[in-house]
Amino acid sequence: MTRLPALFISHGAPLLAIEESPAYWFLKGLGAQLPRPKAILVVSAHWETASPRVSAAPQPETIHDFRGFPQALHDMLYAAPGAPDLAHRVAALLQAAGIAVAVDGARGLDHGAWVPLSLFYPQADIPVTQLSLVQGGDAAFHLAMGKALAPLADEGVLVLGSGSVTHPLGDPGLGGPGVADWAASFADWVETCVTSGDEAALVAFHSGPHAARNHPTDEHFLPLLVALGAGGLPGRALHRSFQYGALAMDCLAFGPGG
Ligand code: ZN
Repeated sequence: MTRLPALFISHGAPLLAIEESPAYWFLKGLGAQLPRPKAILVVSAHWETASPRVSAAPQPETIHDFRGFPQALHDMLYAAPGAPDLAHRVAALLQAAGIAVAVDGARGLDHGAWVPLSLFYPQADIPVTQLSLVQGGDAAFHLAMGKALAPLADEGVLVLGSGSVTHPLGDPGLGGPGVADWAASFADWVETCVTSGDEAALVAFHSGPHAARNHPTDEHFLPLLVALGAGGLPGRALHRSFQYGALAMDCLAFGPGG
C-alpha cells in the first residue's frame, strides 16, 4: 500500500466551504493528488477535551459549531460513515505510547473536519473520525500524540490536522488591505521550519515571529504538531495563500508520501 502523507490544513473561516478562493480551489483538487485513504483521522482545533478522546460514532453527525453564516452553510451535511475500527486502533496506539485515551461513542464532525473534507472528498464515502486536542496540553505533548500515530500512514489512514498557520482572531489587522507583514513573516517561518526539518523550533512556536499576535491561543496551531509527529519531517507546503489579509490558508504535507 502507498504510504500516505500526514496533512495540516488551514481551514480558515467556515465560508471556505462555499466561497471561491485560492484555498477553496486548491482543496477542490487535493483529493485527486493523494492516494485514496481507507479511513481519515482528523485532529481539529474545534474539539478540545481535558484528556484525549477519540470518536467511535458509527455515523457521525455534522456539527454546525458556528453562528451567523449563510443558511446554505448551516444546512450543509457531511454524511461520511464513521470509523469505529480506526478509533479503537488510535486508542491502542496512544495507550501503547503511555497516553491514556477514552473512546467516545457519540461525537460527530466539527467544521474543522467537515468544511475541508467537503471540498476534497465531496462524495463523503471514506470513513472518518476525530481525535481531540487536549486543553492545556503543550506542543510537545501534541507532537508525542502524533508520533504515536505514525504507523497509521502505512495502514492507509490519512492523518489530518485541521487548524490554521495563523489565527489572529479579533485582530484589528484582519481584513486590512494586502497581507500583513507580521502574519506573512510567521507563515514564512513555519514553512522554513517545516521544509528544513526543524522540529525543535516548531515545538517552541511561541518564539516564532509575532507568535502571540498570530496565535493568541494555541488550538489552531497544535494540530500541526500532531500531523508533523504522524508524518515526520521534513515536510513541504502544498499550498500557500492568505484570506482577510492575515489568515494563512497554507496546507502542509509531512512524510515520504508527501
Ligand atoms: Zn477554526
